[in-house]
Order: sequence, then structure tokens, then C-alpha cells
Amino acid sequence: CVKPVRAAELRDLLSTHAYPEKAEIDSDALAMAVAREEIHLHFQPKLRLSDRRIVGFEALARWRHAAHGQVPPDIFIPLAERSGLISEVTQRVFGQAARTVRSLDALDPALGVSVNISSIDLQDGHLADRLAATCRDEGVKPDRITLELTETAAMSDPSRAKAGLVRLRLKGFKLSVDDFGIGYSSLALLRQMPFSELKIDRSFVRDCTTSRDSSAIVGAVTAMAHALELSVVAEGVEDADILTHLVEAGVDEAQGYWISRPVEVENIADLVSK
Ligand code: C2E
Ligand code: CA
Ligand code: CA
Ligand code: CA
Repeated sequence: CVKPVRAAELRDLLSTHAYPEKAEIDSDALAMAVAREEIHLHFQPKLRLSDRRIVGFEALARWRHAAHGQVPPDIFIPLAERSGLISEVTQRVFGQAARTVRSLDALDPALGVSVNISSIDLQDGHLADRLAATCRDEGVKPDRITLELTETAAMSDPSRAKAGLVRLRLKGFKLSVDDFGIGYSSLALLRQMPFSELKIDRSFVRDCTTSRDSSAIVGAVTAMAHALELSVVAEGVEDADILTHLVEAGVDEAQGYWISRPVEVENIADLVSK
């Protein structure tokens, strides 16, 4: 005899067929992952070196793929950029980040969150309005959120980037120039952009205790950034000697595995109260 299919089972069957799991890592699978909210965030703390306090977190996107496990952002962000999905990804990431900012209020209302944006996002004239509307909906002041753009992205079409950055700054967002030092920007261009923070690229930070060149670059970039009234963050700190070196170089904040790996949102409170 044939067992009758219950309504719930039928719904499950139908939904599996409507959304088959895709084994490939391609734009269809990514579009599906975005729609099903399979893109989530990990958060890496930013440590202020003057008093060794955690002052914020960088939101880093993760794709939990049914067949491949965690797909790293170095793979799927370029895919999103090529396939026109980046603005949807950015919007979802930003929404999750804004909700996290609000949830941090109970721990410390001064904590901020940084979100990475792509140069393609900046080409969208409505980006600033959309992000500001999300902040309004979530009850978050834009000055709690820092938007990070790589130096390479900012400098590839500087006048266009500048226009987009100014719109974001006018909404109250803070702006950070990421992966600084590998893009050979001119000082003249950098000072025209409304950044308030500069992040020294991991490659210089990693080598600053072993290479005189990297050490000189960390020192010179820090001095230059301070002259332009930019706060300096070093990323990719992997041991105690590097941290000591950065303190001596006058760097303001640091991130890296030696301080903490990126963590799930549930584990943020443990880090802040440590
Ligand atoms: P990024 O913005 O430079 O982020 C820092 C990367 O370095 C992260 O990799 C982080 O996990 C890793 N990291 C942190 N501390 C250390 C350390 O001590 N040593 C080493 N070796 N690595 C460290 P992740 O999460 O794989 O992200 C890679 C890149 O993907 C990011 O580089 C960023 O450019 C991009 N990305 C991540 N999330 C997003 C997003 O939501 N939107 C956009 N547009 N890009 C994103
Ligand atoms: Ca970043
Ligand atoms: Ca970076
Ligand atoms: Ca990077």
C-alpha cells in the first residue's frame, strides 16, 4: 500500500526540487546562496594600542556552500563583482553588520563595525542613500560604521571613487583606505579623499620585524597618515614582536590572528569582556 504524503513532506519535496543543490561555485549558486541568506559574517576585533581595548570589529563575509563547505571571500567576492551580484551581497552584508552594531550597544555603545565595499558599489549613485536608509531602519547612527575600500579600488578611477566616497561621508559614514602600500598612490590624491583611517597592508606588517624595508615602510606610512590626520590600523598581526614593533612605530590600532581570528557573532561578547 502507498503511504500518503503529508503536507509538510510535500512542501519539503517541492522546495528541494525548486532549489536543487548546485555543486559548482558559479554565479547561479551564488545568487541562490544570497537569496537563501547563506552568506554570513565573521567578526575580527580591532585593538586600540594605547590602552589595549577592543574598539570595533571588521565584518568578513563567508559563504557556507552545501557541497564545498566554507568558500572564502577571495573567491566569491570577485565572482559577485563579475556577475553583477555584488550590490546585493554588499546590501545583505551591510544589513547584518548594522544589526550587529545595534546588538553591541548592550556591551559598549562606542563599539563600531567595519564593512568592506567594492569599487563597483561606488559606481552606484544610490549606494549612500540605501545604506543610510538601512541605518535608519535598524536604529544605528552611520558614524558607528566604517566602510573600507582598497587603495587599488580607490585609485583606479580616483575622481569617480571620490564622488562616491563624498556621498557616503556626507551621510556620516567613516571611510577607511584598505590594503594600503601596494597601490603606489600619490599623496596628493590620497589627501583629496575623505578617508579618516588607513590600513597598512598585511605584507608590510608581516615582515616589519625581519625586513628593514618593511619596517621603514610601516614607519613612513604611519608618519604620513598622521600628518594627514588619518588614524592608522595595522592588519595581519601574527605575533607579539610585531605588535611591540607597531606600538613603537606609533600605529593606532591592530588586527590579526595573534589578537584574535575572526569569530562568529555569538562570540563577540567573550572578546569584549576579556
Ligand atoms: P581584507 O579586507 O584585507 O580582510 C583581511 C583578511 O585577512 C581576512 O581574510 C582576514 O580573515 C585575514 N586575516 C586577519 N588576520 C590575519 C592574520 O593575522 N594573518 C593572515 N594571514 N590573515 C589574516 P578573509 O576573511 O578571507 O577576506 C579576504 C578578503 O575578502 C578581504 O580582505 C576583503 O578584501 C574581501 N572581503 C571579505 N568580506 C567582504 C565583503 O563583505 N565585501 C567585500 N567587498 N569584500 C570582502
Ligand atoms: Ca578590509
Ligand atoms: Ca585589508
Ligand atoms: Ca586584503
